[in-house]
Amino acid sequence: MKTLLPTSIAGSLPKPAWLAQTETLWSPWKLPDDILQEGKHDALLVSLHAQEHAGINIVCDGEQSRQHFVTTFIENLRGVDFEKRKTVRIRNRYDADVPVIVSEVSRDKPVFVEDAKFLRKQTKQPIKWALPGPMTMIDTLYDDYYKSREALAWEFAKILNEEAKELEAAGVDIIQFDEPAFNVFFDDVNDWGIAALERATQGLKCETAVHICYGYGIKANTDWKKSLGSEWRQYEAIFPKLQQSSIDIISLECHNSRVPIELLALIKGKKIMVGAIDVATHEIETPQEVAATLRNALKYVDANKLIPCTNCGMAPLPRRVANAKLEALVAGTEIVRKELTGGLNTEAYANQRRTTDNESLSIT
Ligand SMILES: [Zn+2]
Repeated sequence: MKTLLPTSIAGSLPKPAWLAQTETLWSPWKLPDDILQEGKHDALLVSLHAQEHAGINIVCDGEQSRQHFVTTFIENLRGVDFEKRKTVRIRNRYDADVPVIVSEVSRDKPVFVEDAKFLRKQTKQPIKWALPGPMTMIDTLYDDYYKSREALAWEFAKILNEEAKELEAAGVDIIQFDEPAFNVFFDDVNDWGIAALERATQGLKCETAVHICYGYGIKANTDWKKSLGSEWRQYEAIFPKLQQSSIDIISLECHNSRVPIELLALIKGKKIMVGAIDVATHEIETPQEVAATLRNALKYVDANKLIPCTNCGMAPLPRRVANAKLEALVAGTEIVRKELTGGLNTEAYANQRRTTDNESLSIT
């Protein structure tokens, strides 16, 4: 199946109220250990259904089996003491109790691979799996052992690569690394952050993505955004090097953000997941608003490289809001698809494109 403008989401969806406290990050599980795994998989099915029902093309697990997009992965590694938590400032923005690195880090067993195999069995759609990126991982813990951000990032990159290769073998089509820290530590990103990310993807044949956003719609993030001025040019510092990197897809925050859209020209040639849904408001975008964001991005991104998406994860939102936003994303995308194809179906449009400019429509 070839789909023009295949829709996807950045990663997380709200958890059902029977599994975890809703609208809360790091919410403790509500189920006892003996039925927790089954409960997480049931929630994954609910989340997959929400995506497929809305018409999302590239689906994911909605991160139903993790408490948090970074710490759950870290807590499964050796060398990490998650009983002895310390309070650190995340991305210079808010305090959180995080695990402590006490010795050499390693991965004894796969973390998400069984969940990915489960998801693969449930759907024929292309699937995407999110992992934390090395730089965001080191920013979400206290390091009492390596005492070097770069050295620890490199160790995490090797561990992530092991996990990513097993996810690929489990049938994952796109492996995404979440790197909101890329929007904060520009010098480190250029010095070693992108290199560490490439190390994490080494040898993968599936597509790779990096998600760089301005964070969940929590107060610490929205306050930070208010301090960034009228134009958010953070991406400008890292795009030139990312453009040169081996990463296939870049996932960005666009709708309702103050990112100048022309910055997308700096990553020409990459596939772009364009954030057309704001996760920091309960207000539901209209299909026309989504379409306007996509049209704007199309000035700088080829249609065959654009993946309409959400700005970030929707874990902290009420389920009815998240589901309505999925529908808005799909409806807005459909408007732009029709405009691009002039009413032709996707296959006829692809054939026309092939004959006119010898360019094949990629995408799943
Ligand atoms: Zn995000």
